[in-house]
Amino acid sequence: MTEPASLSIRFWGVRGSYAVPGPATVRYGGNTSCMEVCAGEECMIVDCGSGVHNLGEAMLEEGKRSATVLFTHTHLDHICGLPFFRPAYREDFRVRFMAGHLPTDIRLQDIFERLMDPVLFPVQPAVFKDCAFQDIAVGETMRFGNGLTVTSECLNHTGGAIGYRFDFKGRSIVIVTDHEHGNKAIDEALERFVAGADIMVYDATYTDEEYRNYVGWGHSTWQEALKLAEKAGVRQPVLFHHHPERSDDDLDALRATIRTRFAMAEIAREGMRLEAGKPTPEAATTSTPRREAPVGSR
Ligand SMILES: [Zn+2]
Ligand SMILES: [Zn+2]
Repeated sequence: MTEPASLSIRFWGVRGSYAVPGPATVRYGGNTSCMEVCAGEECMIVDCGSGVHNLGEAMLEEGKRSATVLFTHTHLDHICGLPFFRPAYREDFRVRFMAGHLPTDIRLQDIFERLMDPVLFPVQPAVFKDCAFQDIAVGETMRFGNGLTVTSECLNHTGGAIGYRFDFKGRSIVIVTDHEHGNKAIDEALERFVAGADIMVYDATYTDEEYRNYVGWGHSTWQEALKLAEKAGVRQPVLFHHHPERSDDDLDALRATIRTRFAMAEIAREGMRLEAGKPTPEAATTSTPRREAPVGSR
């Protein structure tokens, strides 16, 4: 059971771009972006990539009856699991979806309508039972009854994206994906946003060498993750949004490299749960998600 004062993050999908189930991604996982942040009893979902299907099934098995979903943005790899999030179809399950990256003339609900247009999907969002859509203002602080606060900050990404910071009883977790470094004003604001965080999940799609060919594509590198963590006093940078072609062996090798430069640095892995403020790297617990059926099978 979660301790009342704990703040943790669990990964249900760690890939960028597209899901890659298969023998080369068994250990780190092949699902796209989905995380669960829990502050005491208050749990939130961040992004609905293909990993959200398994999370939804786990929530139903645990008897949960509500969920708050925050979107970093609505590129396909962050919403493709949404039509397969079974809790949204139930009358006895309340879901609140929130996003803050969209231009003012587009509502989050419009994105759902597009994603589930009859030519793309057999049923339309009207079949979702107890669901609410909320467009939030970037930078506004959301306060929850148990003391959790959630704030957001603009990231540098094509079509817009926002980062989220969760603060709870002196602990903090920040999620920065999808983001490209190099915009001075955004980078400075981001450094303040992540300052002192216990855990910073960061878009590490590329290496510095690969990035030279992908300037302007909206993503960053593991080297930039470590640099930002050092500058901003982040305790544990966690590389995320792995390139779909990065195999388990590649990620193992990368983990060994980053650990020589930043003792607490970690690589996000499906099923991994990290607790903010834990004293040693080994304190991070890993468990297998309840359902391991490769996504992409439907
Ligand atoms: Zn993405
Ligand atoms: Zn994106």
